Amino acid sequence: MAAVKRAIPRERGGWWHAYVCPAHGLELDHGDPLTGVFPAGGARCARGCRVDTPDVRGAWTVLSHQAWARHARVLALRGEDAQALSLLLEHAEVYRESARASHEGAQGWMLRGRLFHQALTDAIWAVTVGHAVWTLAEHGTPGTDALLPLLDELERAALDARHVLVDRGDLASNYTTWLTAAGIATGRAAALVRGTPWDGAKQWLEGPHGLYAQVRACVGADGWEWEGSTYYHGFVLRAALLALRGVAPADVPADVAALLTGMVDVLAALATDGGVLPALNDGPYLRVPLALEWLELCALADGFAPAPRLAAVAARARLEAGDADDGLDRLLGRGSWFGGPALPARPVPAPVTMFGTAGYAVVRAAGAHAVLAFGPHGGSHGHRDKLALSLYGQEACWQPDPGEVPYGHQEFREHYASTAAHPAFAVDGAEQAECAGRLLARDATSVTAEVTGAYPGVRAVRRVEAAPTHLVDVLTLDVTDGGPRRLTGQLRPGVALDVQVQSEGALRTTWYGGDEVLHGWHVASEPVRPVTRPGPGPADDPQVARTWVDLTACASRLVLVSVYQAAAQGPAVTGVRLAGDEVVVELADGTRAGHGTGA
Ligand SMILES: [Zn+2]
Ligand SMILES: [Zn+2]
Repeated sequence: MAAVKRAIPRERGGWWHAYVCPAHGLELDHGDPLTGVFPAGGARCARGCRVDTPDVRGAWTVLSHQAWARHARVLALRGEDAQALSLLLEHAEVYRESARASHEGAQGWMLRGRLFHQALTDAIWAVTVGHAVWTLAEHGTPGTDALLPLLDELERAALDARHVLVDRGDLASNYTTWLTAAGIATGRAAALVRGTPWDGAKQWLEGPHGLYAQVRACVGADGWEWEGSTYYHGFVLRAALLALRGVAPADVPADVAALLTGMVDVLAALATDGGVLPALNDGPYLRVPLALEWLELCALADGFAPAPRLAAVAARARLEAGDADDGLDRLLGRGSWFGGPALPARPVPAPVTMFGTAGYAVVRAAGAHAVLAFGPHGGSHGHRDKLALSLYGQEACWQPDPGEVPYGHQEFREHYASTAAHPAFAVDGAEQAECAGRLLARDATSVTAEVTGAYPGVRAVRRVEAAPTHLVDVLTLDVTDGGPRRLTGQLRPGVALDVQVQSEGALRTTWYGGDEVLHGWHVASEPVRPVTRPGPGPADDPQVARTWVDLTACASRLVLVSVYQAAAQGPAVTGVRLAGDEVVVELADGTRAGHGTGA
């Protein structure tokens, strides 16, 4: 086979979110992005399509440019300086020839980039290029001064774009953090190359629009990035930790360090014991480049404030990354990224972890890991999923948040943001309004939240309790302005699901998550219709049908009880009843457990 010519594309890139099959909603296959040439015959969809449109070509060009920049960074970290330098000189040439003040192909809502449609994409690219040069400059590699015009131009572009965002009042935008990370990486790299002290600390780090001000603006007291999206949370934390290269964690202002360690704690608490990070709000469900992002973030967090639970996240991400793992995270080397030792290790999260600002509760029961969503909508990355209850095992995604497809697929993007796609509740089959719920009660083993804004005249309360052998979930829907209405609790599996109506007693469900099987018992205060039909599974492949179950009653009040038990746990649940305001769970050893409904 003839060797494939590998080269950096000479043309500007578009928007990576357009890299999606219009028929199937699947992200298209990247192929080898280092060929620098769009796949002959069109980009491949795993379901057989070949797609070739200007938007898809532009998206592929983004992936190729970013892959090349990353490759240069890895080469520099490996000490392959000559190769890294020649690649970076080529990048400088491409930027000089191609990048122009404002990309005319951008969509109206975008903050325009110079090399790509979005300034955000330019910033991500600039961060990678800047850190590659920084590493070479640390090595004392000769010839890096030829990169100064590129670094200066990238810093200026990042500053211009940040001015636009600040003027718009978007200091808390995830864009701002990446532009700042770009300004710092390129500015500090240039100072190192020149052999002069960095004079950008006020502009980029400590000033009113610098990194510290941004972290204060975009992170809540509970540690969550304000959008409540797992993906954007990690995205912002990664940018912030990249921006802090060379800074001793102990030298970061104490309140900012507390917010950053809080962000690490969020991921540690959210992750299952097997390292699954629930894909709350917008963000991919499963994606190889995402796995690489988690690997990098876990390595950076380890050097800043280690959280032992993130080891499982990194191990899982490494498996997901497979052949695409170029070892970048291992090259970052704990302790050498920052300018001093890590802060003390983070504590292990409690069995019930509350995030009061973002409005999430994580409840760990025997073998099950549940996430209850009741917080604010999350801006343009929010989903209409109030009181959704996601259910995971260690690695099983029994009832996951389904994530989101690349944004270029309008119909599936809308679907995955919808109420119907989530294990939430619905009234009259309608969409929830964008709204915020509130916490009603919590103790060491349970949490209760309320939503009144999703549907006019309906109050919804969900209580989740971790019992020693099982998980209890009680959803109460009350029509407050009369009734009856069509009240529905939704089951949305990410795995194969069996549903079995019994002649008497609870409706039974069995959730197959590889080695981890979950049993469910479902009873209600009113007769419910357990209508079961195929629906799209998680967003990594919308064409995989899963068994959707809508438990519906036409009533003024519906109390819907679900008891879940992982198959490895015992004594086994033998029966579940709703007796007035009490949920009674009978166990195989003859004992009974009583649980409140919270309403
Ligand atoms: Zn397709
Ligand atoms: Zn969602």
